[in-house]
Amino acid sequence: MFDVAVIGAGVGGLYSSLVLAERGFRVALIESKSRSRIGDKTCGDAIGLHHLEHIGLSLPDDIVDHRYRGVKIKSPSEKHEIIVPGEGISVNRVKLGQWLLKNALDHGVELLDEHFLVGVEVRDGRVDSVRVKKIGGGVVEVRARFYIDASGAKPALRSKLPPEWPISERPLTTDFNIAYREVVDLEDSIDSEDIPYAVIYLNQVVAPGGYWWMFPKNSSGTVVNVGLGVINNGVYNPRHNYEKYLRGRFKGRLVHAGGGIVPTRRPMPTLVWSNVGTVGDAAYTVNPVHGGGIGSTLEAANIMSTHLSRVLEEGEPTTENMWEVNLKYLEAYGVKQAGLDVLRMYLQKLSNEDFEWIIRNRLVDGSAVYEIGVKGSLADRVVSAVSTMIKLLGRPSLLNELRIVRNYMNKVMSLYRDEYPRGPAGIEEWMAKVEALFSEYSRVIDFDRGEKVKW
Ligand SMILES: Cc1cc2nc3c(=O)[nH]c(=O)nc-3n(C[C@H](O)[C@H](O)[C@H](O)COP(=O)(O)OP(=O)(O)OC[C@H]3O[C@@H](n4cnc5c(N)ncnc54)[C@H](O)[C@@H]3O)c2cc1C
Repeated sequence: MFDVAVIGAGVGGLYSSLVLAERGFRVALIESKSRSRIGDKTCGDAIGLHHLEHIGLSLPDDIVDHRYRGVKIKSPSEKHEIIVPGEGISVNRVKLGQWLLKNALDHGVELLDEHFLVGVEVRDGRVDSVRVKKIGGGVVEVRARFYIDASGAKPALRSKLPPEWPISERPLTTDFNIAYREVVDLEDSIDSEDIPYAVIYLNQVVAPGGYWWMFPKNSSGTVVNVGLGVINNGVYNPRHNYEKYLRGRFKGRLVHAGGGIVPTRRPMPTLVWSNVGTVGDAAYTVNPVHGGGIGSTLEAANIMSTHLSRVLEEGEPTTENMWEVNLKYLEAYGVKQAGLDVLRMYLQKLSNEDFEWIIRNRLVDGSAVYEIGVKGSLADRVVSAVSTMIKLLGRPSLLNELRIVRNYMNKVMSLYRDEYPRGPAGIEEWMAKVEALFSEYSRVIDFDRGEKVKW
């Protein structure tokens, strides 16, 4: 019998396992990949340093490929740009995964690699055991006091729980972006002015409902991570768009290519239920606007595993005694995510002309974008500056839309911050309010949210 069984050895599962093992708990880490492929995740590889600072994690130098002094956001014509200050790094994902894994194993985590979670046994309202199948082998049963689903955007455990558990909530198709990216060793280096920045290109033709990016991976600007994400509405294919619009611009030796899905929405209504918790992409702890999830996944894993350690020391985990994880996560990141989810839906509807106009006229500057990113809301200062500009430049419809978006961002954030239930009792009522607010908002801005995903 393990104390905790963690499903998935991405950053979320690895970090959760490590923190729990450091505190002396017996942890099983179940991962479908082979041990040497742990960490091999298709990603843009960029993280804001503030996430690592929040959890006190310092990475060895050899994991860091490159350092950024901020993010550049380019207009569709690429003639205009906003520079958002803020330190970040490009990581070597395989090395990051292997380093976290080594630390976890050194602390006694028991790895079941090449094992797929295939079934869940629920008894008396608790998960009694999970069934995992070894590739080319048989099925074994793993029993634990608590289970953490860290299996990514297609959650392996959550999707097999009783549908009436709030932790099984199914998302909508447009809650995701689908992405494709290549790491390329270029024939010619990129513009030297772009080397110290993670560069984001707003372009609804190349990346409808998302953006395309070019994240340099070395200081000479000869290796880049280039990719794009599109809204998951069944219409667009990111790989086709990469081939059509980007491959010709980034000629060179292909180092790595791959695709993936990214949740771009508010977090799960609850990260815990009964003796189950969820973190990372499985819990949608990702920034809805830029899709960055490495840092916030680490933060969620840290909150989950430190709180769980305390609970396990005192007795058995229950929905009630694990509830504080929700409150802590919302305070650290989730409330902001909820606000940004509202903004994300609006941004997905803007046209290239809108983006060009906004950036060309400097409607928002780098510090305003930074503030929106940090707080998740449109601060009074930003709104009044933007409103003055819009009035001067004569786009009253945009001003009206901005007011609507701001209003809903505030309402949603208040729902997550002030009205989130202090215990599990009120969760269903609260979820109904969230759903009502989002469906009202999507009607107001005429946003088609798609259908519930099929698991
Ligand atoms: C193309 C792309 C670009 C991105 N760019 C960035 C970026 O630049 N910066 C950033 O911060 N974030 C980025 N993200 C998001 C980021 O990669 C994720 O948010 C983060 O890696 C989530 O970590 P995780 O541990 O939750 O999930 P994952 O890394 O997906 O790990 C889940 C693990 O579970 C395993 N698993 C799944 N099913 C099972 C099963 N049935 N049994 C056993 N194991 C299973 C998987 O093999 C995997 O190892 C990007 C994502 C994509 C797809």
